Amino acid sequence: MRILFSILVASLRFTVIFTMTNISESDNYIRDRERILKLEQKTFVGGELNLTLKEKLVDDVILKIKKSELVKGYENVSNFLPSQHFFNVKDKINQSEMFSIIKKLPKGGALHTHFLAGVSTDYIIKNVTYKNKLYGGCVNGVFKLKFFEDGDPNIDSIWKKIVEYRQNDTNFDVWLKDQLSLEVPNPSEVYPTANSIWTKFKKTFTVQYDMICYKPVFEEYIYQLLKELYLDNVMYSELRGTFMPLYELNGTTYNNEDFIRIFIKTVEKFKKDHIDFIGVRYIHNLYRGVSPDDLKRDLKDLVELKNKYPSFISGFDFVGYEEEGHTLFDFHEVLLEFTNDLKFFFHAGESNWFGHTDINLLDAILLNASRIGHGFGLNKHPQLQELVKEKNICIEVCPISNQVLKLIDDLRNHPMITLMSKGFPVVISNDDPAVWGATGLSNDWYVAFMAMTPENVGVKVLKQFAINSISFSAMDEEEKTAAMQKWGKQWETFLDNMLLEYKNF
Ligand SMILES: [Zn+2]
Repeated sequence: MRILFSILVASLRFTVIFTMTNISESDNYIRDRERILKLEQKTFVGGELNLTLKEKLVDDVILKIKKSELVKGYENVSNFLPSQHFFNVKDKINQSEMFSIIKKLPKGGALHTHFLAGVSTDYIIKNVTYKNKLYGGCVNGVFKLKFFEDGDPNIDSIWKKIVEYRQNDTNFDVWLKDQLSLEVPNPSEVYPTANSIWTKFKKTFTVQYDMICYKPVFEEYIYQLLKELYLDNVMYSELRGTFMPLYELNGTTYNNEDFIRIFIKTVEKFKKDHIDFIGVRYIHNLYRGVSPDDLKRDLKDLVELKNKYPSFISGFDFVGYEEEGHTLFDFHEVLLEFTNDLKFFFHAGESNWFGHTDINLLDAILLNASRIGHGFGLNKHPQLQELVKEKNICIEVCPISNQVLKLIDDLRNHPMITLMSKGFPVVISNDDPAVWGATGLSNDWYVAFMAMTPENVGVKVLKQFAINSISFSAMDEEEKTAAMQKWGKQWETFLDNMLLEYKNF
């Protein structure tokens, strides 16, 4: 009996000790898990921000909505929109609840937009191409649009009035849209390679270039571009483009300085009509196939103009398919001469190659770029990442552009996620929204938020995206402070409206 009792006591003691050990081991395990997850959350973009009570309440709402959209994807990935091609899910994205919130959210600035692909194609077709005196004709195999005065001797046999095209073909507008846009229902079949889509992409600019050079249309175009950004709750933009040879129908032509003057006047008119809009800066572009001599000449002219219009012209960048033309290294001697006079905002690393085109990233950093466009290949270069961090260079991430132009299919695998996880400064931008049927910034913000940030990250990252778009802009410090104040007011209104709209959520 005594032996039996001792066995019972010993076994009870063992059970208690075993359970206690088990609990404390499990506690430690859980504590470690939480600690590591919290650390990851803290290092993610926006992780260091402290939220106000109001922001925390809105965060709860946003996280619930984000999760409900994600859960549909966890159950069946075909419900997860950013993992599919934008052309096939655009309408569904635009109807999603998370998208409607992002649309209302004050997003600060759009820092990477090419103005010749900034106005929605539908607006161009319905408004610009229905104007009188617009002609169309095939030049070197590409259909081009251009305004002419009736009876202009330059109207040779290739040109025909657009109204006549429409009379002869009831589907003309559908055909015309196809010339101006990359949108197709079956993108992977129509564009099997990056080269094939870039060929079509370049053509879309040629089609409309002369039409937009008509001064009244240029003014209307820029005004409409700003309106589309403004309606998407964007308050500032840095537009990339090149000097355009504006013309009137009476034969008057305008030089580069006139172009800048007309551009500024249009922006000022827009600002007057929309007092919440802060303004625009211009980033001058040249095709990366330019010769070093032409580059030097152009940059000299640019510096002269920049000295005259310092609060409008902010710097320089190359454009075009990065796999073609010259590398940044080819131009480094010329560019080094201008580092004191111009800020650089280079496209770099917009490539899937390793140790080849992506080396432009190295030169962009060594040439002291203020920001880098895309930086898609940066995750492969630990040394360059260190330098980007040290020099506090912001990366302009344009996820839909990267998908449409065939760098990546499923945005959950976007390489910039690695850098965002480490807190690298990024801004989300739209690149050439009109060409793929996006408007404003919201489409890019939506896919970045849903596919490139963790399930439990909400308001912090959205707020940081907006703050970055002001603090990494080319505005001076005083302007940035004023912009941040203006944005802060919009942000408070957004939070109030969210709490009102979702008060019974
Ligand atoms: Zn770009």
